[in-house]
Amino acid sequence: MDLLEYQGKQLFGRHGLAVSDGQAVTTVDDAVAAANAIGYPVVVKAQVLIGGRGKAGGVKLASDEAEAREHATNILGLDIKGHIVRTLWIEHASDIATEYYASVLLDRSAKKPLVMFSVEGGVDIEEVAENTPEKLIRENVDPLVGLSREQAVDIATRGGADADVIEGVADALVALYTVWIEEDASLAEINPLIVTPDREVKALDAKVTLDDNALFRHPENADLGDSANADPIELKAHEQGVIYVKLDGDIGIMGNGAGLVMSTLDVVKGAGGEPANFLDAGGGSDAAKVTQAIELILSNENVNAVLLNIFGGITRCDEVANGLVAAFAALQPSVPFVVRLDGTNDVEGRRILEEAALPNVYAATTMDGAAAQVVALAKESR
Ligand code: GDP
Ligand code: MN
Repeated sequence: MDLLEYQGKQLFGRHGLAVSDGQAVTTVDDAVAAANAIGYPVVVKAQVLIGGRGKAGGVKLASDEAEAREHATNILGLDIKGHIVRTLWIEHASDIATEYYASVLLDRSAKKPLVMFSVEGGVDIEEVAENTPEKLIRENVDPLVGLSREQAVDIATRGGADADVIEGVADALVALYTVWIEEDASLAEINPLIVTPDREVKALDAKVTLDDNALFRHPENADLGDSANADPIELKAHEQGVIYVKLDGDIGIMGNGAGLVMSTLDVVKGAGGEPANFLDAGGGSDAAKVTQAIELILSNENVNAVLLNIFGGITRCDEVANGLVAAFAALQPSVPFVVRLDGTNDVEGRRILEEAALPNVYAATTMDGAAAQVVALAKESR
């Protein structure tokens, strides 16, 4: 789960990183009231889950009430690379002497946390990594030991932080590492990590991704994320514990197991179709689960045909077939379904479907055949 900047900053603050106080608002009047309460100059910041907000006009300084109103009016509703701004964060503007970069993420190849630091902050860090890799310090941390102060001081020193803020940068790195570990984040990034003219080290931006699989350990984080901008079907799926991602096409997809669903998307694309969603029904698909999944798929009105691709392992094909029969009774879908059942109890599953003689349901035995058929059916029903 990706957090909005202000939510990331709130986590930072809880773990001792310096951030500016501010207020999250959703209307122009509330933005102006917040700015007046905080005191000028303020910075008005678009809260969307995409970087480069500054360049897109989503971060503006305001020195008085009129400017705060003007910027809030312009930024609310702004489309930043397809993300519509519905929330603003207003904070007291900081004076900036220098902009650094700091992040903690998982280095999968080293199987260890990775701390990155650069004095080339405020810019696209990918460019620094590409053009001047020597200016981006990358250091693995022993997860059993954690990031020690000595190691943090060493990173700040080798990165070329100003001598008088080495200690402050090291504190910030240790705090960022603590956020990453204790909040079960997969990414914690600050760009820019600023040094103010009076030499305070402070996080001016926050990009945090929390590991959804660890959210049960952090009930207080459950409501974070960008629910105002989330797709309603995705939200519903999330509540039901189903992994659903909405896509742009018209072919509904359901499978069991993330790998199978991803390859189903590929095969449908290869056959000239456009998937409408990713849906992993997981293992063990009883009638209630199948009905729920099909209901989610059909609640996307772009769907013209549906492909069920089930590879029976722990999931039994006869159980899925019974689920499908129940789902059809409950939902009476009007679009065609192609169903491929393979693996555990597939013969029995196909027999159940044949006996039920569901309208508009086509059985397929191979994945390629199923994909070709669903693409053709979707074209017909457009
Ligand atoms: P991003 O463009 O999405 O990465 O948004 P940031 O929060 O990083 O803001 C973009 C840029 O706006 C920063 O790199 C700063 O240069 C500038 N900025 C943001 N907040 C302040 C502030 O409080 N004071 C000043 N002077 N500049 C700011
Ligand atoms: Mn930034």
